[in-house]
Amino acid sequence: MQNPFQNAMSQLDKAVKIKDFNDLITKLRQPDRDIRISIPIKMDNGTLKVFEGYRVEYDNARGPYKGGIRYHQDTEINEVKALAFWMALKCAIANIPMGGGKGGITVSPKELSSGELERLSRGWVQKLSDILGPKKDVPAPDVNTTPEIMAWMSDEYEKISGDKTRATFTGKPIEKGGSEGRGPATGLGGFYVFDSLRAQLGLPEKCNVVIQGFGNVGLNAAEIFAKNGHKIIAISDSKGGVYNQLGLDLEKLITHKKSTGSLADFADSKNLTNAELLETACDLLIPAAFENQITDQNAGNVKAKVIMELANGPVTPEADEILFQKNIPIIPDVLSNSGGVTVSYFEWDQNLKGEHWTEKEVFEKLLGMMNDSAQKVYESSQKYSTDLRRGAFILALERISEKM
Ligand code: GLU
Repeated sequence: MQNPFQNAMSQLDKAVKIKDFNDLITKLRQPDRDIRISIPIKMDNGTLKVFEGYRVEYDNARGPYKGGIRYHQDTEINEVKALAFWMALKCAIANIPMGGGKGGITVSPKELSSGELERLSRGWVQKLSDILGPKKDVPAPDVNTTPEIMAWMSDEYEKISGDKTRATFTGKPIEKGGSEGRGPATGLGGFYVFDSLRAQLGLPEKCNVVIQGFGNVGLNAAEIFAKNGHKIIAISDSKGGVYNQLGLDLEKLITHKKSTGSLADFADSKNLTNAELLETACDLLIPAAFENQITDQNAGNVKAKVIMELANGPVTPEADEILFQKNIPIIPDVLSNSGGVTVSYFEWDQNLKGEHWTEKEVFEKLLGMMNDSAQKVYESSQKYSTDLRRGAFILALERISEKM
């Protein structure tokens, strides 16, 4: 697999060819610190197992380090570093007073019992509690980490530190200090960005949409796009996907997956591999799964009119160039998936002020902010005659450098 941190740095190289930021770039070529921990856990069968965990604090010029924690068997330090770097840019683009961080554990969470998962999650906090805190470093969910896991972590942090604000972890369940609307926030924020840029990118009012990913982000996005009159013609999970030119019935598809364990063989639709899904003709392709999905190997075959990244880092820098030549605009992750961290910021703010906002209030604020970020990124790309990713990077670097 390509090294995601090298990819992130080559994206940075490309942006600074257009506008240089001198010392800031020297500073941003490495994180403030990257921490690796060992987390020993008593397994249910009585044996001891040691897991490797991480927290990368990339940059806090704009506020406390902010970013999720990923549980995945392939998670390693270079991935976490790349994700933490992207968080620093993402928070600047979202215009929230937060810096960039990310964490993770190398683990396949589906292989653990609920008790083992809880001990592992609490273990991560025990090893890192010194560096966490509402004004220091504020983690959140990412791939395979749920509100329940955030509740365990928040509780563990409170026990160790005595801090009762509950503002150290975001993405908590509502009854444990979570915000209304945090669940669908990333998918919804993505929809707001798309809606803001749709006409400028030459897309029709009703689009045919292809989505890679059936997790929190992919599924919420699919439901929101469908509710707003767009057609989801293909969607996949890690095992593969299904295609129906007339549009998939998502409710029935969810039931089908629950009863059969997979998306395959859904009524009236054709099975697809993930590779085929990415090459399906459509108006909008949304990779909402993992890094390095569209590479120099398949970018030439992409038949979407526009790509919107809801995963972090799904398009490699080489693929960016190929798609640029093919005139396929990419709405970059650091803009399009920033709805999640924006509502995380709302949660943190509510926790510190002891408030609880309604879902309506949260969504209105989110809409205003996503619209503003989308248009600022678009203006930046026009001003520097470049693509949206470079436009977004330049906007972020301008905002970070102001604070430095
Ligand atoms: N993990 C999400 C992301 O990559 C959200 C981070 C957060 O809410 O802090 O943007």
